[in-house]
Amino acid sequence: MGECEFIEFCPFFNDKLENKPDKIEEMKEKYCKSNNLNCARYMVANALGKEFMPLELFPHEKQRAYLVIAENG
Ligand code: SF4
Repeated sequence: MGECEFIEFCPFFNDKLENKPDKIEEMKEKYCKSNNLNCARYMVANALGKEFMPLELFPHEKQRAYLVIAENG
């Protein structure tokens, strides 16, 4: 696994989210640059399309991702 294919588009990676966690750079390394399959945002984009990625959703919020997918899938 390499970099996530949504890196250029993704609002999280491009610092567009309102609430930035302290560990944002660590999260980018952990998810965006290493393992996007574990990313909540990626899960939504993969299941529904990238236009369904909620703006305020962080990579570790998988429960929220499941809900978004269940509601829109
Ligand atoms: S936050 Fe998730 S979807 Fe966005 S670039 Fe990182 S791994 Fe990809």
